[in-house]
Amino acid sequence: CGIVGYVGPRADGTALDVVMEGLGRLEYRGYDSAGVAVVDDGAVQTRKRAGKLANLRSALVDAPVPDTATAIGHTRWATHGGPTDQNAHPHRGGRDGKLALVHNGIIENFHALKTSLAQQGVEFTSETDTEVVAHLLDEAFARTGDLTAAMREVVAGLEGAFTLLAVHADQPHTVVGARRNSPLVVGLGEGENFLGSDVAAFIGHTRHALELGQDQIVTITPDTYEVTNFDGTPSDGKAYEVTWDAAA
Ligand code: GLU
Repeated sequence: CGIVGYVGPRADGTALDVVMEGLGRLEYRGYDSAGVAVVDDGAVQTRKRAGKLANLRSALVDAPVPDTATAIGHTRWATHGGPTDQNAHPHRGGRDGKLALVHNGIIENFHALKTSLAQQGVEFTSETDTEVVAHLLDEAFARTGDLTAAMREVVAGLEGAFTLLAVHADQPHTVVGARRNSPLVVGLGEGENFLGSDVAAFIGHTRHALELGQDQIVTITPDTYEVTNFDGTPSDGKAYEVTWDAAA
């Protein structure tokens, strides 16, 4: 339902602060669960809870995560699997849990993908359509060593509507996003960059935005952003200034 991604660092706070603030600004869209992933050198940590953001906040008080410069967050509106802690995003991929993924939309062909992953011995920890993508991405990352290349490979096999954001512990200063039939906007900062399902996610921080077109992938690091089409060809994206007043 709502998606936020951030790569920093921030002088006055952490990636988690930015993502939690963004999720708060996306609350108006409605949701049934919320979660975050923070990325450190070598490790990804997730916290997720059914219910309001307040539940996620108290989970973060009970079990704090380290201060990091990279984070992603999600508010979920369940389509596949009930609104439980387990089904909340982010979802972890693979054997080592180094990858985390959030998703808006529906993967129409998830059932066939899940059957084939299960036959390969993959164990699932949720009932969502999303989790298949986490496992596929993890497997593609293990082969390619690059999250953007892995994303390009995986989206080629997906049907339906999706905005996806992924992080991997072996590429700790990168967030990769992809979209089809579902919106994704880049927020351009100085020494930091943002991703959001809508500009409300980062409006408190920058008004320089870039809208992704259909079937595009974006890779952000603190100082760079790169947009490509699903076929790998480069794209400039559509840059604009956010003019509406979102002070409220
Ligand atoms: N289909 C996914 C799920 O049920 C994502 C739903 C959403 O857009 O929040 O977990």
